[in-house]
Order: sequence, then structure tokens, then C-alpha cells
Amino acid sequence: MENSEKTVEKVIILGSGPAGLSAAIYAARAELHPLLFTGTDVGGQAATTSVIENYPGFPEGVGGNQLADLFTKNAEKFGARFEYDMVTAVDLSRRPFKLTTYGKEYFTQSLIITTGASPNKLNIAGEKELTGRGVSYCATCDGWFFKDKKVAVVGGGDSALEEGIFLTRYASSVTIIHRRNELRAGVLLQKRAKENPKISFILDTVVEAIEGKDAVSGLELKNIKNGESNTLAVDGVFIFVGHSPNTDLFRGVLDLDEKGYIRIDERMRTNIAGVFAAGEVADSRYRQVVTSAGMGAAAAIEVTRFLESGE
Ligand code: NAP
Repeated sequence: MENSEKTVEKVIILGSGPAGLSAAIYAARAELHPLLFTGTDVGGQAATTSVIENYPGFPEGVGGNQLADLFTKNAEKFGARFEYDMVTAVDLSRRPFKLTTYGKEYFTQSLIITTGASPNKLNIAGEKELTGRGVSYCATCDGWFFKDKKVAVVGGGDSALEEGIFLTRYASSVTIIHRRNELRAGVLLQKRAKENPKISFILDTVVEAIEGKDAVSGLELKNIKNGESNTLAVDGVFIFVGHSPNTDLFRGVLDLDEKGYIRIDERMRTNIAGVFAAGEVADSRYRQVVTSAGMGAAAAIEVTRFLESGE
């Protein structure tokens, strides 16, 4: 393994969603010359969102991918460096901290973790086998493949409704399947979804299996109120049933809460001095682009103070 022990970075940022990119902008402007590992999902979850309508400054809305690009350009302009790579192990037992990728070791005086969260799976028959063949977790990425086709969306939160509305651009019909009779999504999205002639709802219902040989052909549904089962013929199913934090690397290393999110204080500090966390990896409550970006900025400001203090 190549060993770059001689180089100790001032700050390394893990993750390229709004929190990581915003931290990179602030750290670069503080002349910390940050090194950011993008991970596999460049741009984070925001980049897979069709349209972001609630990020300030974009009254007409902005594509998630486009916003991630703008954040990246902004960070590059001030000198942030990007590694399109995954960190596979961390040693935070002493400083400088050691991070390992598949082929290299990196050392850093401080670390900002912004590894975000990933979409939850339903863990039902057919889901894994048919992922990429009609099962999707990203309407922006895969919606186009369902032009004039019938699709289902599973979930009753903001993501399910927002992405369901987006899918009506392509699909002939969108059936939203939710396990309760009350939607979790905000009222504005509920109103827009209910007014959309292509959208219908099946409530009090769970998906028990996804059917199809080479591609999705239908869903096995069960009404949880009366126990009745039936099949819904669809060409695709988009699953939006929440997220789980990407904290596997930090289990047994950092303090995590009962759901696996990194515990931080109001200054983005973890239980290890010099290690900070921001964005959805440490926030199960707000999970917005604007709040994640704000946390990333705060973490970079705290890193600057930490390094200046010589702690
Ligand atoms: P969420 O709010 O956690 O909603 C997840 C949905 O999936 C819920 O309706 C939940 O049902 C359902 N669900 C969970 N596990 C399930 C299972 N095993 N089987 C069937 N259904 C299941 O997640 P989200 O919609 O991804 O939103 C995440 C956060 O991002 C939220 O804070 C949301 O406000 C925010 N967000 C905001 C916007 C916006 O402001 N425009 C857009 C997207 C996301 P129950 O309702 O029964 O729990």
C-alpha cells in the first residue's frame, strides 16, 4: 500500500452532498486547502432529487444535479481538492487521524464527516433481483425509462409525493401505495398530488412482493385493514420509505444514537476532538438541503477555530 505519511492534511471532508460541499467552500475560503472524498454517490441525495423548490435563491426551482454542480464549482473556485474515491477504514484513536482508501493511506489533523444517508429498502421478495429492472429508488435517474408506462410509488412522505408528481411527466399513471390511511407528506405536496389526474392512491396497504421475471410486471398487495390480497399490474416501482445514516465506518468508534446517527453538539463536534459531523449523517430531524449546507458551513468554521486553538 502506498504510504503518504509525510503529508498531513489540515482537514479532510468525507462526502459530497450539500453538507460536504458547503464545508469545502468554507474550509477553502479559510485557506485550509480541504481534501474532499466524494464517495460513490457524487452530489449526495440532493443530486438525485428531480427539482428542489425550497433552496433559497431559486424561485423557479433548481435541478438537484444542477445544484450539486454549482456547489462543486463554488468549492473548486476557492481551492478545494476532490478525490473521487471511497474511504474504507478510519483510525481516529490518535492525531493525525488515518484514513484508508482501497489503495492509499491519508493523514489529517481534523475530519468533517458528511456521509449522509441512503434510501431504505422494503426487503421483500423480488426487490433485490429486480433492482435496475423496474425497481428504483431514484425518479430523476430512472423516470425516463417509464414513458407511457404504469408505475407505482411506495411511501407516504414528502419524497414519495414529490417524486410521484415528477414521474407523471413520463408515466401514463402513478399509483401511490401507503401503509396507513393518512399521508405523512406536507399539505402543499398532498394537494398537488391529489389534484394531479395521473395520480391515484392505495391506502392502508403494504407491498408484500414484487413480481416479474426479467422486469417488473406487478406488485402483490395486502390491505392491512381487511387482510385482502390482490395484484397490481405495473411496469415499475419506485420506493421512497425513508433513509438510514451511512455510519458503518464509525460503529464502535464514534458515539451514535439509537438509530445510528452520529451524535454531535451544537458546534458540530463529535465525542472525539477534531472530528466533526454535519448534514443528514448527524441530523434525523430536518434533512433539508439548506439545513445540511448550513451545518456543513458551521462544521468548517468550527474546524478553523479548532486548528487555530492548537488543541
Ligand atoms: P419519511 O418522511 O421518513 O417518510 C417515509 C415514508 O415511508 C412514510 O410515509 C412511512 O410510512 C413510509 N414507510 C417507512 N417504512 C416503510 C415500510 N417498511 N413499508 C412501507 N412504508 C414505509 O421519508 P422521506 O419522504 O424520504 O422524507 C425524508 C425527509 O426529507 C423528511 O424530513 C422530509 O420532510 C424531507 N423531504 C422534504 C421535501 C420537501 O420539502 N419538498 C422533499 C423530500 C423530502 P409512515 O408514514 O406510516 O411512517
